[in-house]
Amino acid sequence: MRIATFHIGGERRVGCVDEKRQSIAPFDLSMDEAKEGLLALISRHEMPRTLNPIPLREITLEAPIPRPRRNIFCVGKNYHAHAKEFAASGFDSSAAQGAVPQHPIIFSKVPECVVAHRAPVYFSKNVSSAIDYEAELAVIIGKGGRGISKEQALEHVWGYTILNDVTARDLQGKHSQWLIGKSQDTFGPMGPWAVTRDEIDLADTHVRCWINDELRQNANTAALIFDVPTLIATISEGITLMPGDIIATGTPEGVGIGYKPPKYLVAGDIMKVEIAGIGVLENQLQEKAA
Ligand code: MG
Repeated sequence: MRIATFHIGGERRVGCVDEKRQSIAPFDLSMDEAKEGLLALISRHEMPRTLNPIPLREITLEAPIPRPRRNIFCVGKNYHAHAKEFAASGFDSSAAQGAVPQHPIIFSKVPECVVAHRAPVYFSKNVSSAIDYEAELAVIIGKGGRGISKEQALEHVWGYTILNDVTARDLQGKHSQWLIGKSQDTFGPMGPWAVTRDEIDLADTHVRCWINDELRQNANTAALIFDVPTLIATISEGITLMPGDIIATGTPEGVGIGYKPPKYLVAGDIMKVEIAGIGVLENQLQEKAA
C-alpha cells in the first residue's frame, strides 16, 4: 500500500494512492489526526476506512511525515563504494576510523528540515557553496522498542520512504559533527509517499539518483554494509525507538563530492531520486538570500 500525506483546499489529509488510476482515497480521519500525516496511521491496529478517491492532479503532496516527532536517524558511509569515495574526498571527519566503518556511523537531521516532493531546496551562497545530494532508502518504525534483536527487527518496521539527505559538504567538514551540514532548512526532502513494508524486498531494491538528466547514483540495497536489521538493533540497543521514527539507511556511490573535481549542485538543478517499489522524489535547488 502507498500512503501519502497531502493537502487539498487548505486541509491536510492522509490517503491511499492508486497509481494506475492516478487517484488517492483519503482515510476517514479527523482534521486533528490528519495533521500528523502518516503518524496518524502508525499507532493504529487497523487502517481507517477510505472515502471517495480524488484525482492526484487535484492534490498537493506533502512529506509522508511532514514534521517527524524527533530527529531523523541517519547512517553515514553505509555502502562500500561510497565509503571509499567519501574517505578520499578530504571532507570526512570520521576518516580516522578507516574508509569502511567497523560499526554504523549514526548522526541525525533535525525534524524541521523535512520538505515534500517538488518543494524547493534552498541554499544561500554566503552559508555554503558545496551543496550535495544523497539518495537514500528510509525506514519508518511502526512498533517502538529497546534492545530489539536483528531477528525481530523487521517486525518493528511500518514501511519505507525515500529521503534525499541533502548536505552542505563544507559545513559537514568544518564542524566535524555533521548535524549543521545535514540539517540546513529544507535539506530533508522526503516522499513522494511511504509504502508499507510488504512492498519492499530489502535484499534487492534499486536506488538511483539523477541530477537533471545525468544518472549519478545507481546501486542496490543488497550492497548495504550494515543492513536494516543491524541498524535497528544497533540504535535500539540503548535508545528506545518510537513509532514514527525514521532511519535513513545511507547513500550509495556517486555523490557530487565523489567526483574529481566535485560536482556540487548549482541553483536550478533538479535532484531526482528513484527507489524501485516506492516511486520518484524530485526537488529543485534554489538560491535564497540569507
Ligand atoms: Mg546520508
